[in-house]
Amino acid sequence: MAPPNSTLRIDPHRFQRTFEELAAIGTTLDSGVHRPAFSASHQQARQWFFQHAVSAGLEVGIDRASNHSALLRCGSPWSPTLLLGSHLDSVPYGGRFDGALGVVAALECLKTVSENHLVLGTHLEAIDFTDEEGYFVGFLGSMALSGQLEAEHLQNARGARKLFLEKLAELGLSEETLFLARRDPASLAGYLELHIEQGRRLLDQEVQIGIVTTIVGIRSFRLHFLGRADHAGTTPMDRRRDAGLGASAFALAARDLVLRDFPGAVVTVGNVDYAPGAFNVVPESATVSLEFRSDDPGRLEAIESALLAQAAAEAERFDLQLEVDGLDSTAPTRLDKGVQETIARACEILDLTYTFLPSGAGHDAQIMAQICPAGLIFAPSADGASHSAREFTSPEDCRNGTNVLLQTALLLAEEGI
Ligand SMILES: [Zn+2]
Repeated sequence: MAPPNSTLRIDPHRFQRTFEELAAIGTTLDSGVHRPAFSASHQQARQWFFQHAVSAGLEVGIDRASNHSALLRCGSPWSPTLLLGSHLDSVPYGGRFDGALGVVAALECLKTVSENHLVLGTHLEAIDFTDEEGYFVGFLGSMALSGQLEAEHLQNARGARKLFLEKLAELGLSEETLFLARRDPASLAGYLELHIEQGRRLLDQEVQIGIVTTIVGIRSFRLHFLGRADHAGTTPMDRRRDAGLGASAFALAARDLVLRDFPGAVVTVGNVDYAPGAFNVVPESATVSLEFRSDDPGRLEAIESALLAQAAAEAERFDLQLEVDGLDSTAPTRLDKGVQETIARACEILDLTYTFLPSGAGHDAQIMAQICPAGLIFAPSADGASHSAREFTSPEDCRNGTNVLLQTALLLAEEGI
């Protein structure tokens, strides 16, 4: 027997209208969006979210980490809440789909349930998390809500810490208030997020929906290759201790090593900083920004050992010293099996093709997964493009993803997790 409400669908025209309204906020000349966290355009998008929710008859609320929520009470008074969400902030000059799709989809799901007057086993809440992209502090909103935020994260605010504190103050918030956003996990039934894939696996496999199994762990390091500054004209090639060569050789070797020994994992040298950095001076030092990702904790460890050994070997080859600073480390997050199966059922109800896959990008879902069952649904990304104005997901794929979100939410709300 088909589950109740399995014929319910979103309103595709309303969804598209809403999506385009939002995309116009902070729009760039090349049709991307520029909505860094706490910028004027980001705040405007959040205002829009509230106005939109209120005009749809939803309750709205804001917490002490500036997470914005629209609430539909459709359970009994003591029911837990199922969160559906993503983020309205963007990377600087990013695309219109990253984060925005999930928030518009969540709103559309609440509207659909509301106008059908459904009574469910949970309340539904559409949530827009603060600073997912980490303009200041990555996953700030979901970290605060889930109780994982620590003073150390705030100390290390990227960009300017002073500006971060000013932005909080403008909203009547402070570092201390952020910790008050913590919610009791028992009050939450789960968390669901629809997001664009930001890669091209769905496209290549011609599959309509991705069900995320794991979100990769990420480790980052700063490597300092230290040599000796010398005259670029008078120092023979075989007498140099050129730090730049160590860094360059390492960047190429890191790629070969990961391709050969750790297929599926990725490694990136995102920046190399030479000092003193002149045409006519042999580089004395080269500082390398190194990041690598894998969905398997054991492999992450093995990649780290192999890469650091490689860096040491390159340093020795060019007669350099090597210093290593460990920076961030996040563990791979496995998402709830039961939620994954429920998303698959939703796809079957909707007659959509699906596949299970890991996510190479970080998402609020990995933070929420620490305190409640969490699920992440991917819609295909044209050309795999993301974090650029080239980001595109067809209206049909956006609609399909939103219907999967709706049907998954209904199944979870009716049957429990
Ligand atoms: Zn995102």
